[in-house]
Amino acid sequence: MKPTHHAFHLASRAHQAENTVISLGPMNIGTKDLTVIAGPCAVESEEQIRVLARAVSRAGAHVLRGGLFKPRTSPYSFQGLGMEGLDMFVQAARDNNLLTVTEVLDPEHIEALYERVDILQVGSRNMQNFPLLKQLGTLDKPILLKRGLSATIEELLSAAEYILLGGNTKVILCERGIRTFQNDLRFTPDISAIPVIHRLSHLPVILDPSHSAGDRDAVLPISRAAVAAGADGIMVEVHPHPDQALSDGEQSLDPAAFTRLITDIHAVANAIGRRVTS
Ligand code: PEP
Ligand code: MN
Repeated sequence: MKPTHHAFHLASRAHQAENTVISLGPMNIGTKDLTVIAGPCAVESEEQIRVLARAVSRAGAHVLRGGLFKPRTSPYSFQGLGMEGLDMFVQAARDNNLLTVTEVLDPEHIEALYERVDILQVGSRNMQNFPLLKQLGTLDKPILLKRGLSATIEELLSAAEYILLGGNTKVILCERGIRTFQNDLRFTPDISAIPVIHRLSHLPVILDPSHSAGDRDAVLPISRAAVAAGADGIMVEVHPHPDQALSDGEQSLDPAAFTRLITDIHAVANAIGRRVTS
């Protein structure tokens, strides 16, 4: 088939009219069911991740997030526990019936993470790391691809194309806020990316209200807006003690606030004919 768009083809609606559905455990991402991903920015300790996995599972999350390798803006900031955190992360999720997602920062880590983790995340700062994308394209594993901080939607879909070209069709896109002139929040959540991506592509798209805002007070309204706009899920940072978090505490919810968020998300989902399975 002739390419219908100069930058991406396999990712386009023209190539595939029906939604890509990614079935993972009890979830079918890309259907009317919404996926809720929650957890700390970074895995910090066995106790932190165990407490949190239980809390977000009880609140109704489906997937536990937790960074092992953190792409920090400053090299002096906490860089993550690395592979040392993998066992405690996977165990905490398993004990609470949660799936797992973690960021892969270095192609050398793909093999070890592939064996243990359900979804591999490509962070904003790596959206155009083409060698990494190409290698992830060869895997049979869902990839959560985050939009670059200053990337257009066409650039995001072109990055997804690198993964699809390798044969891996399981790509979940993630809007996480972009750089604009507006600087009251750390980034500007681009809610409009959701309908635009759904028009241009068959791939599911979720929204990360935490990195979008950089401010925990904005996480609830942005999450409601994302679901109302048709997002296929949300990814939220939650920490047992946000003020003591080693990274991104200012944007992290505590478990009680996350529980309230889930209640609101249910209401918005019901209003538009979607649902959050428990
Ligand atoms: C993250 O989700 O852990 C993260 C680092 O986000 P981003 O790549 O969007 O900054
Ligand atoms: Mn973070």
